Amino acid sequence: MTQHASSCPLDCPDACGLEVTVEHDRVVRIEGDRRGPLTDGFICGKVRKFADHMYGDDRLTQPLVRTGPKNGPPRWRTVTWDEALALVADRIGGIVARAGGEAVLPYHYGGSNGWITDGGCASRFFRRLGASRLQLTFCAAATSAAQRGLYGAMPGVALEDFAHAKLIVLWGVNPSATSIHLVPIIDRARAAGAKLVVVDPRATPLARHADLHLPVRPGADLPIALAIGHALIERGAIDRAFIETHVADFTEYARRAARWSLDAAAREAGVARADLEAFVELYAATSPAVIRTGWGMERNRNGGGSIAAVLALPAIAGKFGVRGGGYTMSNSDARWAVGAEAGIGAPEAATRLVNMSEIGVQLRDLRDPRIECLFVYNCNPVATAPDQRLLVEQLARDDRFVVVHEQVMTDTAALADVVLPATTFLEHRELHRGYGTMRMFDRPAVVAPYGEARTNTELFGALLARMGLAQPDDATTDQAIVDRIFAASPRGEALRGQLDAHGIAAPPDGANRVPFVDVFPSTPDRKIHLVPAALDAEAGELYAYRPDPATDAFPLALISPALATQISSTFGQLREAPAAIELAIADADARGIADGDDVRVWNAHGEVHCVAKREAHVRPGVCVLHKGFWRKHTANGFTANALIPPGLADLGGQGAFNDARVQVAKR
Ligand code: SF4
Repeated sequence: MTQHASSCPLDCPDACGLEVTVEHDRVVRIEGDRRGPLTDGFICGKVRKFADHMYGDDRLTQPLVRTGPKNGPPRWRTVTWDEALALVADRIGGIVARAGGEAVLPYHYGGSNGWITDGGCASRFFRRLGASRLQLTFCAAATSAAQRGLYGAMPGVALEDFAHAKLIVLWGVNPSATSIHLVPIIDRARAAGAKLVVVDPRATPLARHADLHLPVRPGADLPIALAIGHALIERGAIDRAFIETHVADFTEYARRAARWSLDAAAREAGVARADLEAFVELYAATSPAVIRTGWGMERNRNGGGSIAAVLALPAIAGKFGVRGGGYTMSNSDARWAVGAEAGIGAPEAATRLVNMSEIGVQLRDLRDPRIECLFVYNCNPVATAPDQRLLVEQLARDDRFVVVHEQVMTDTAALADVVLPATTFLEHRELHRGYGTMRMFDRPAVVAPYGEARTNTELFGALLARMGLAQPDDATTDQAIVDRIFAASPRGEALRGQLDAHGIAAPPDGANRVPFVDVFPSTPDRKIHLVPAALDAEAGELYAYRPDPATDAFPLALISPALATQISSTFGQLREAPAAIELAIADADARGIADGDDVRVWNAHGEVHCVAKREAHVRPGVCVLHKGFWRKHTANGFTANALIPPGLADLGGQGAFNDARVQVAKR
């Protein structure tokens, strides 16, 4: 047996350091290591059992070409890589020659957060092809737009520094499922006297023991945040000196916030006015106070405005300037000064942008040219994109060429013309950084590729060569890509030095920097802009509230938070249990629904057949059908994504997954 240092590049803020045990070139054990301040020797159950994913029955080991019709049960012919690459190059070459590069759309997302696997040769290939570009909007699109508008690229409070806070607010985030290493830090802070507030429609594990829980109706975070801001201003609980020095647009922000009283916001959000009052008092009186904003809040029509309104609170209340004070959203690109771009080595062309959250309708409606080829990698859109019924229909068309590079036979791969086996993160090198913890890893493969699986670098490098798109000075190996990335920045050498010496790196100017002591907004005047003109233009009017879309026919707000056992749809093949919709006890009673009943969940866009679970932790008027289920987990082959209405959030082209309103009945 041998031990190997590795790290986890999956779509999770924590970016754990790993210790991997290998026997006869097979991974037999994965544990957390202690190189970073966050991992602290433990990891989630998802990755501890990663060997089940690597060596399970669904693992793809050879290239496959479809032989049967696309709308029937898949029948496959095993082919060599050479045959598969020839077929893919030939079909794509023909499409480009006939219809132009924009007839090809790459479809990829957070299957890896690494700069080799998501970037590198793949991006180079599609750029040189002149393919349509994908707008990445499943997650953090609205939050990134809001954060950049208000603060630029200023990093937030380091997760480790939550230990210094005396008030921690978790707003639209459930670390018990999606960032487990924050939980013990919160526990330590509370043991030292910190208060905990949770804003979430569900009583999440942390909400159940919080000092205050606001079970807000989905989409109504905006009135709450504005009302709190207005109340702070009215009571004089704001930091006028800080505002004078560091904040722009305060008067306009105050005018818009004044539209919402605590009474009106409490009514709209379905929370107790006294609880909003308690929040205002606690926030006004406590420092350091940190707000951890999550991804639940942005997934609706008001998502961008909601995030902006929440991020305005520490600015007006003067919560910055102390360790553990301010906000945390994403820390991914804060101060590394290096990125994937140099490893790609091909300029981005101004080809058309296709919003990934509208993929079904774009496949159906886009013309001049229509999308004739969808090339999927690091992603499983059938399980993750809205309008699932239309997407399945469009992928099953015989006149569309679908290529999927995947580790296991996903719902998307099952609809492909060509399936190419991909390596997992323990079978290839990766360079990646966390978007919660501010740490970077560059680590090698720990085992050889399983079967005939190939890396993204190998696949797209081969296609570049076959299609005559390679150039003599291209970085064609993982090593060369990494070298290019570090060589492109004056800070690269320092990072390389840290990685070589310790196997982990922190930003060259130091980790755990304190906002408004060590780091400041990167806006042109280095101020916080509470009503940035660009966001105002994009949203129509920033902070304008769009009312709840519920109707008498479809009264229940359906939310689809992450499963604790999966990372979005990743690992879904390993799940045996059927999908269950969680209903508030009162809503289940009103419909005569018992635990385990077969139910239909429907609206004007689709229908899902699953089982019911009565859940005391869900508030009345809300129901939960987690994201990440696969088609096999429901009785009719559709998941929550079949119920998402058309339409986007107010900023960033963000998918409005939580705007689904549904009815539920026994089947
Ligand atoms: S998924 Fe998150 S918690 Fe689990 S090992 Fe990866 S980084 Fe750590």
